[in-house]
Amino acid sequence: SAVAARIRPDQNPQAVTDHPAQATITMSAVNKWYGKMHVLRDIDLRVNKGEHLVLCGPSGSGKSTLIRCINALEEIQSGTIEVNGNVLGRKGAKVDHIRRDVGMVFQQFNLFPHLTVLQNCMLAPRRIHRATEAEARDKAMHFLEQVHIAEHGHKYPAQLSGGQQQRVAIARALCMGPQVMLFDEPTSALDPEMVKEVLDTMIGLADQGITMICVTHEMGFARAVAHRVIFMDRGEIIESAPPSEFFGAPKHERTRAFLGQIL
Ligand code: ADP
Ligand code: MG
Repeated sequence: SAVAARIRPDQNPQAVTDHPAQATITMSAVNKWYGKMHVLRDIDLRVNKGEHLVLCGPSGSGKSTLIRCINALEEIQSGTIEVNGNVLGRKGAKVDHIRRDVGMVFQQFNLFPHLTVLQNCMLAPRRIHRATEAEARDKAMHFLEQVHIAEHGHKYPAQLSGGQQQRVAIARALCMGPQVMLFDEPTSALDPEMVKEVLDTMIGLADQGITMICVTHEMGFARAVAHRVIFMDRGEIIESAPPSEFFGAPKHERTRAFLGQIL
């Protein structure tokens, strides 16, 4: 399979750690509360350019909140988040720039139901990048071809399978030319037979060197593409290690317990 055929990135950790100046995302002492509920606790996380992170952990541990903070979809109460040199949460933070640089793919594909596949992909480049109709169409077709769905460009989301819709959602995000792609359980809502086509699409993206943070419990995917796997529990990062270490010799009891449940 595509997963097995690849060289594991953790066999070459220098590939990402040699360039400390190239941090794309830096979270420092980030705390977030929903009312009285403390959902992110002193999160320190640095993601280098081109790095692929897999984030896992029990339901409710704060994974979605963490990545939504990176995209400025949630406010934080203390600490700092820097994305491509833009510091979030400060006065004058360029939230628009951050959203432009960061593409996001959700569990529920979130396509616009009243727009065709092609129109879904053209909308944001037209409105935000002020692309011409022809530019937006060319770009959309390019990325729809990359995810092998270009022949369905004229259809509406409801006419596609879940796996196809999710591939469109990935293409749509790529049309904005993001520096970073965030995935929040992109295969959890899919029927099992559609999981592979979406994972293969994500593996293809990883091979192109885009920076990725993926919330997923697909551990085959994690072994194949992650430079680091991060385990969160109750709002904290408990463990962070290359896949070989993470799966082969998890250090923390909570990580072992979690892996015991999902593997
Ligand atoms: P995960 O993605 O790991 O399942 P979440 O980040 O969705 O975890 O949620 C972390 C905690 O924050 C959970 O206890 C959840 O119930 C709570 N939470 C998430 N979103 C909201 C919200 N908008 N308002 C209040 N509580 C929330
Ligand atoms: Mg979640």
